[in-house]
Formats: sequence, structure tokens, C-alpha cells
Amino acid sequence: MSFEGFPVEVSPIYEGERIRKEDMYVEFGGGKVPYKFELVLSAPMGEVEDESVKVVGPDLTELKEGESYPLGILIKVSGSKIEKDLEPVVERRIHLYTNYIEGVMHLNQRYDIWIRISKKSVKKGMTSLSWWGKALVRLFKAEMPFIEKMEVTFITDPEKVKEWYQKALEIYNARDARARAMKDEDVDTFYGCVLCQSFAPQHVCVIAPNRVSLCGALNWFDARAAANVDPKGPNFPIPKGKCIDSVKGEYEGVNEVVAKRSLGAVKRVYMYSMFGYPHTSCGCFECIAFYVPEVDGIGFVHRGFRGSAVNGLPFSTMAAQTGGGIQTEGFLGMGIEYFRSPKFFQADGGWSRVVWMPVELKERVKDAIPAELYDKIATEKEVTNVEELKKFLVEKGHPLAAKLKEAAAPPPEEKPEAVPAAAPTLEVTGVPVGAMPVTGGGIKVILQGAKISIKKMVIKRVEKK
Ligand code: SF4
Ligand SMILES: [Zn+2]
Repeated sequence: MSFEGFPVEVSPIYEGERIRKEDMYVEFGGGKVPYKFELVLSAPMGEVEDESVKVVGPDLTELKEGESYPLGILIKVSGSKIEKDLEPVVERRIHLYTNYIEGVMHLNQRYDIWIRISKKSVKKGMTSLSWWGKALVRLFKAEMPFIEKMEVTFITDPEKVKEWYQKALEIYNARDARARAMKDEDVDTFYGCVLCQSFAPQHVCVIAPNRVSLCGALNWFDARAAANVDPKGPNFPIPKGKCIDSVKGEYEGVNEVVAKRSLGAVKRVYMYSMFGYPHTSCGCFECIAFYVPEVDGIGFVHRGFRGSAVNGLPFSTMAAQTGGGIQTEGFLGMGIEYFRSPKFFQADGGWSRVVWMPVELKERVKDAIPAELYDKIATEKEVTNVEELKKFLVEKGHPLAAKLKEAAAPPPEEKPEAVPAAAPTLEVTGVPVGAMPVTGGGIKVILQGAKISIKKMVIKRVEKK
């Protein structure tokens, strides 16, 4: 494929290229910008102006260097083989193909995109977003031949982005709702995705009716449509095979395919648990589930949340622990639609194990939270640290409260000389401490993927002299 005449190079070798803040000309979306989206819509042949690229609002050189701006990427496609199911599939590839462009970095998806354009590329002549659009048209048509016509519109006008953003949210929501009526038991094939292996080489997404991809952009229908129309692409069928454990969600077929596609790095996967053999996480998860060892509960934080979660860690720190395609007990990247799954962490206690989530996220998944638990799940409004969380859970009568009260009860009185022989023996074997931040002395140590086994714990009173 030729990109002759382009001011910058376009090639898979630029995938994974990072653009630091100091090197960026401008950025679009990301945490500082509330309105941003990418959306692909299918349309009849007559309604798509083939290979047209428009910029609605200020173009690159009309923007102030070093700043962050709203952006909407709207792509219309048509073709005789194109069906609605393929819209999210094409949409997810915007991430891949944009990253082929020298000096353009694309992260995340849907309403959460974050793009940086490098100073170097603008200097080389990439002075308009239309170059990006032209590259996308060429790449998409070459890689997904079922796309017969394609038009790209970049919206930078803030008012128009905001207007389209609301429409886009409704469309994402309608797509997600489709898979809700199905169960994993209804199908004998799940689907996989390895699109993110350029960033996380061992990562394989397993997409089932009850487990949306962790980027949230592909559900089972979408992945199936992608695997059918582009069998050599990043999506592929995974015959479920024998069910090894229906509660944890372990399947022979899934283990086999994931082992093969991760080149042996991941041998077992539990679809409905964050402990033992959790699903791997690449980097574009919509939110993170984290274990809170002090209350033996699970907390959640979404990408847009500013500030620290109840464990004292902001999203970005936890994202670094979670991503990269490794299995990390105690940290798990997930798609927001998984909250609505009937199998939501079913091996770990499901909703009765959930202790904390930001208000914004709680509001967003309100429909999925069992009514009797809604007030028992804390947010940043009620608690800001683990001590406050403990009190909150006990006061509200959270399902974990009984265990917490038991743990807080004072130990029976004992004579000092009897202590060594009668000391309590605490067996903590296989407790997932991956999420356990150890603090003290002004430093913070995070034990990742560690298991601590304590055979015996002796507590002695030290007499002051
Ligand atoms: S997060 Fe998973 S489903 Fe989404 S693009 Fe990456 S590999 Fe594919
Ligand atoms: Zn990813």
C-alpha cells in the first residue's frame, strides 16, 4: 500500500509509539476533556461520499500548541456485506490504524478516546487532520475489503462534539443492550480478540455473551461478526469445549486457545473471578476492579475518576499495575457492561463483595446493582480511606459486616507468660495480596502478584521501661 505524497510515514512499525507531553503538538480527548468520541455508522451506498474527509471546526494549525481539545471522529461506511454488527468492529480498528501513522498516538475507545499528535509530524507537514482521515480511508479499504465506501469527518467544534457525544452514548448503549438477553450457556462458541497485542503482547480478550471485552467496545455479537467477515483478522472463534468449573467460568476450549494465542504465557482463565487465574488486562479497560484486603471486598474505579480511590491509589497508578497483558490477582481491567452480567464476579460473591465505587460509576450502573445493596456500597462521598470504609460497611450492615465485626472484637485476655504457647496462629495462605499497598515511612510498596504465607503470628506486649 502506498502512502506516497503523505507528509509522514504510515506503517505498522509506528504501533506502540508513545508521545510524551513535551513532544505533543496538541492532544484530543483524554482526562482533561469531557466530550470526545469515535463512532462508526453504516449507511446505504447513496449516502456515503466515498473517500471524503472533512474537518468541522478548527483544524490542527488553528489550535494552540500544547493544549487539549474535544474531538469527535465520525465515520460512515457502506458495502453490500456490511451489517449493523460490523459498526463496532470497524470502530475498534480506528485505534489500530491511527497508531500506524507516524507521530499520532491513539488510546482507548468510544467516549474515552485520547489522541496526541507530535510536534515533529506537524513540522514535517501534517498540518491538517485530513491527512489522518486519508490514511484511515486507505488502510480500512485495504484491510477490510467489505468496506466499499467510506467517509470521515473530524469534529473539533466544541458545541457540535457535545451534541454528537450524547447521540453516540445512546448508540453505544443500544449496542450493549443487545447481548443482555443471552447467556454463556446458550452458545458453544466464544470469540477472542488480540488487537491489543501490539501494546500487551500476551493479552487475549475472551468475549462471551456474559462477558463483554474489557475495552467495552466489542460484545459477543460484534466479535462474531468480525470473525466471520475477516477470518484472518484479530477476532477468532473459541470453541468453548468442556466446562471445567461453571462458577469460576473455566472452559477447556478457552484455556487451549488462550494458551496458543498468548504463546504459552497464559494457561488458564477464570471468566467470572478476579482471583486465581483472572483474565489478563491490556491497557484500554474502561474500569479497574481492585481487591481491598482490609475488608476482603472489591472496589472499582473508572478511567474518568479524578483523585484517589479508597485504597489511596489513583486510577493511573492502578492502571500501571493492571495492564500489560499479565494475570494479576487482585487487579482486573473490565468493561463497564460486565457490571450488568448475570455472571458478574459470581465466583467471588458477585455484588455482595462490592464495597466501593465512585459516585459517577455507581450512578451509571445503578440499574445493575441489587436494590438491597445499593446504599451499602460506599463512594468517595461517604468514605475516603479504608478505616472509614470498615465503619461504613458495619454501620450499613453490608454482607461483609459480620466478618469485619468478628475481626474487630478484642482478643480474650491472657496472662503475659502464657503468650508464646497460646499465641494465636493465623494462617494466611493464598490470600490475594496483589492489591495490598504497604505504606509507612513515607514510601509506598505495592506487592504485585505476590502470595504471602504466614505460618504463625506471635503478638507480644512490649513493656515500657
Ligand atoms: S481490549 Fe480486547 S476486545 Fe478490545 S480491542 Fe483490545 S484485545 Fe480487542
Ligand atoms: Zn487494549
